[in-house]
Amino acid sequence: MSNDLHLPAIGMGTYKLYGRQGGRAVTSAIEVGYRLIDSAFSYENEAVVAEAVARAVDEGHAAREELIITSKVPGRHFGRDRALWAVEESAARMRALGPIDLYLIHWPNPAQDRYVETWQALIEAREQGLVRHIGVSNFLPEHIQRLEDETGVLPAVNQIESHPRFPNTEQVAYDASRGILTEAWSPIGRSSDLLSDPVVLAVAQAHAITPAQAVLAWHVARGVVPIPKSSSPGRQVENLAAAGLLLTPEEVAALTALGRSGGRLKGQDPAVYEEM
Ligand code: NDP
Repeated sequence: MSNDLHLPAIGMGTYKLYGRQGGRAVTSAIEVGYRLIDSAFSYENEAVVAEAVARAVDEGHAAREELIITSKVPGRHFGRDRALWAVEESAARMRALGPIDLYLIHWPNPAQDRYVETWQALIEAREQGLVRHIGVSNFLPEHIQRLEDETGVLPAVNQIESHPRFPNTEQVAYDASRGILTEAWSPIGRSSDLLSDPVVLAVAQAHAITPAQAVLAWHVARGVVPIPKSSSPGRQVENLAAAGLLLTPEEVAALTALGRSGGRLKGQDPAVYEEM
């Protein structure tokens, strides 16, 4: 909890969920119990996600006010005016939902040096009621410190790459020290071989759970909110059930010890990586 924002222990990602099929995956996620859904301007699925969420609400699977629907402004729309237009565009695409619950800056893009202006636009968007909560993604301590120094407003959430191969422990600790909730993207390692790692398999076997559940329970034990993406209702149920699984401190430490330098899935270091 931060800035009166409450997040569930596990959310769902939507990268690469498109069209009616993607919408069905989102509706199913809400039906099986997800209350936090991630999206982004750049995923080109905000409208489909919003319609699917609205359908799930209409069908009585969740109350609108229990849901945290997220989107993000991309680097190509940085700057005060452009970022506000991007939020307005997202709000139009997601109009089935009313105000967007959580809106993030997707990447800091430090070489552009426009994330502070963009943050000011998000503060205005919140004041105008277009979005309820604002946060960041892929921000390092130095970027967050600048937001605070120049605007006095800290993000509610920082969504970062985190999985056992790249635990990102220092960033998680920094966020916690500033009262910022950390969400983990690619939490089960996307299409890497993480889920067949012998340490992951051993933890899974010890609890008679699946490898994905072992990794997701590790996130939960660290106080991080993972947002695994799955298009399959069966795997959605499997992933969400990890919220109630308890690993031992030794198992948590063994999974964290899988971290390695160069462990980022695609080497995207926010200090230098720029995404438009
Ligand atoms: P994930 O780590 O969530 O992995 C998704 C992959 O794992 C899919 O191929 C999925 O297949 C498969 N999968 C899901 N559940 C299981 C399971 N129980 N067992 C085996 N395989 C499984 O990777 P993502 O990169 O999608 O990250 C999650 C979300 O984070 C994204 O969807 C997006 O919303 C967000 N994100 C944010 C970024 C940012 O910069 N802020 C960057 C990248 C992602 P299937 O669908 O067939 O189940």
